[in-house]
Amino acid sequence: MAHTRILLGLLFGAIVGTVMNVSLGADADAVTFINTWVAGPIGQIFLRLLFMVVIPLVFCSVVGGVASIGDVTALGRIGIKTAAFFGVTTGLAVLLALIATEVFRPGDAVDAATKVELMRSFASGAAEKAALNKGIGTDGGFGVSTFIEMVPKNPLKAAVDGDLVGVLVFSILFGIAATRIDSSRRDKLLGVVDAVNDVCTHLVELALKLAPVGVFALVFGVTSRFGLALLPPLLAYVVVVIGALLIHALGTMSVVIAVLVKASPIRFLRKCRTSLLTAFSTSSSAATLPTNLAVSQRELGVPGPIAGFVLPLGSTMCMNGTAIFEGITVLFLCQVFGVELSLGQTIGALLLCVVTAVGAAGVPGGSIPLLVGILVMFGVPAEGIAIVLGVDRLLDMARTVVNVYGDLVGAAVIAKSEGHTLTI
Ligand code: ASP
Repeated sequence: MAHTRILLGLLFGAIVGTVMNVSLGADADAVTFINTWVAGPIGQIFLRLLFMVVIPLVFCSVVGGVASIGDVTALGRIGIKTAAFFGVTTGLAVLLALIATEVFRPGDAVDAATKVELMRSFASGAAEKAALNKGIGTDGGFGVSTFIEMVPKNPLKAAVDGDLVGVLVFSILFGIAATRIDSSRRDKLLGVVDAVNDVCTHLVELALKLAPVGVFALVFGVTSRFGLALLPPLLAYVVVVIGALLIHALGTMSVVIAVLVKASPIRFLRKCRTSLLTAFSTSSSAATLPTNLAVSQRELGVPGPIAGFVLPLGSTMCMNGTAIFEGITVLFLCQVFGVELSLGQTIGALLLCVVTAVGAAGVPGGSIPLLVGILVMFGVPAEGIAIVLGVDRLLDMARTVVNVYGDLVGAAVIAKSEGHTLTI
């Protein structure tokens, strides 16, 4: 499986890099040679393949998502309740990500000198970064300019500059406006947008095929220069992500089930077993959709029309687990690279996590390119993603379970609120 190969890439890269670091030293000629001529170029090409799709993917997924929210709310009460459930639970998820990362600060396990050195080694093209890091809180705080700069003068320039906020604002407005034109033309437009979205998703899959070698190269680049300095923070990061996912699924969602569905959270969890196992083994909300439809109706007693409405939407738009993962990853890598975020920037980063969790495709690694886009915007070197990609196999499985569980809870909440009797 691709994931296993990526993990092997990480392990080999880490072992070879660490051995060379310890035996030869970070500045040895052989280390510099491999980093300059082999590992460096391969790693960069892999990252560029991911970057390549960020802008078209963000545009198409957000336009498609916003236009379907427009359609959904036009469907009335159920649509509005569904959109509200998705929005509130995703918001709670990023809030949890913020609290978990701030309380445990997994990135602080890196000492100050290593942080400075990491930044020096990997922060290339400072001017380019400065251009990207506009939009939210350039001045380090929330001012009038923050809001003005969010609205792009020229969406193409925003795309060229990699200004994700500008592209997002344009895409959201474009999606809203698309719901206002007559339906036959809108359907054609959205058909194209959807197709481009699918093509981008396939491109990501292709890039991820190269991931084992790419991750090897990138991790070699890090460990050959830094030895094992990054291992403790990486372990701390995995524990924080898994812990936060568990708290969301077993804490927040249990409260929602007890209060809104008026059922036992433990029985609910048991009844969802088949879906959760499918999500865990496929790492894909989309692939779990058929199972979810069956489980929600057979096990939970959600009426077919409600399941058929909430679950397909949820499989691409309601990703609580992904929101938690993205939030923690962005804040963690900022800690690792010593990037200080102001309050305004932190709020901005978390809002971006909400929007990109809605936009991410429900496929393995669907959120990775969007995450890379956010990282670069805040001045975290893209190489940072390599540090976490190596352990993404486990995290993808875990966050997909939480994504899928959120969808099932959503279907039950909506069914209950419509006065249906469930069988939990
Ligand atoms: N694998 C996730 C899902 O399908 C998406 C992601 O966060 O990468 O739900």
